[in-house]
Amino acid sequence: MSVATLAAGPRVTVDLGAVAGNTRRLAARARGELMAVVKADGFGHGALGVARTALGAGAAWLGVTGVGEALDLRANGLTAPILSWLNPLGADFDAAVRHRIDLAVPSLTHLAVLPPGARVHLQLDTGMAREGASLDEWAALCRAAFTAEQSGRVVVTGIMSHLAGPDTATATARFREGIAVAFAAGLRPRLCHLAATAATLTRPETHFDLVRTGAGLVGIDPSGGTTLRGAMTLTAPVVEVRRVAAGTPVGYDHTWRAARDTHLALLPLGYADGLPRGAGPRAEVLLGGRRCRVAGRISMDQTVVETGPGVRPGDTATVFGPGGDGEPTVADWATWAGTLPHEIVTGLGARPHRHVIGGN
Ligand SMILES: *Cc1c(COP(=O)(O)O)cnc(C)c1O
Repeated sequence: MSVATLAAGPRVTVDLGAVAGNTRRLAARARGELMAVVKADGFGHGALGVARTALGAGAAWLGVTGVGEALDLRANGLTAPILSWLNPLGADFDAAVRHRIDLAVPSLTHLAVLPPGARVHLQLDTGMAREGASLDEWAALCRAAFTAEQSGRVVVTGIMSHLAGPDTATATARFREGIAVAFAAGLRPRLCHLAATAATLTRPETHFDLVRTGAGLVGIDPSGGTTLRGAMTLTAPVVEVRRVAAGTPVGYDHTWRAARDTHLALLPLGYADGLPRGAGPRAEVLLGGRRCRVAGRISMDQTVVETGPGVRPGDTATVFGPGGDGEPTVADWATWAGTLPHEIVTGLGARPHRHVIGGN
């Protein structure tokens, strides 16, 4: 397909100016340093662009899950400190050490397989039972890390944990206890870190030396606030329009019938592009200056919407955006689909043409 063909179809626009503004807001809230979490390709916004923008707007660290993501950032010339926190035992830890990538260590087994020179963040589970050592295993892990540090094999740079949800008091108390155990074992980590976006915005007592924010960079505020700006806009051109009589069934299984004589427009994107099929009965787009409901099932590659008169092939529908012009937001689509905004922005398919604005 030619570039012109792609550009005429569905389009994802990423606004790095919004990412920069969001980063500055989060950095202003953080009591310590800010880590820009760019896992899952920067929450679907492009890891490299989000990382560069965030570093230019106040972030000091980058965070990713796997070592591979961190190596990609290094290969693209980013020299900032990077932490990688989720790796199987067979991951390329040698490359991580060669490229100065800090590694989270959740267990004695993980500590044992690290090559000499590793910089580690010991990872404590404070109540998710997902990643990190339990408090039972923690003292042994701290002692082993201290021994490894004394022998010059590793450097313990940090201690980290992750919050399960808005009830942060118990986890924060456990984290403090974990830090005390680490200090008692002789460790002197420079960076203790616990908070992600929600706690960065609402719970200063969880900030410690650094906060790790991902969702907030791209404008998702899990605490429900509205001070951050959505960084992604999804648009699609109208392919066909038709007039239908009251009672006309639309789409697979005829789940929707026109309640009156009306107009329909066909958009060339569907669940393969990341529109959640389950959002169909409630979802809307902005088209011709007004909100238009999805009519019938969202198909794999196609979606029909009910419009007013006057919509023409070639007109542009805004599926979601920051919301300033009356278009739905990612949060609206998440509500319609019964999911989180995170799942919408990380779930877009490969087909929409990607376009970046506002970069520095
Ligand atoms: C994803 C993730 C973050 C970032 O969380 P947001 O809520 O997106 O800011 C921070 N820490 C860990 C361990 C994560 O997995």
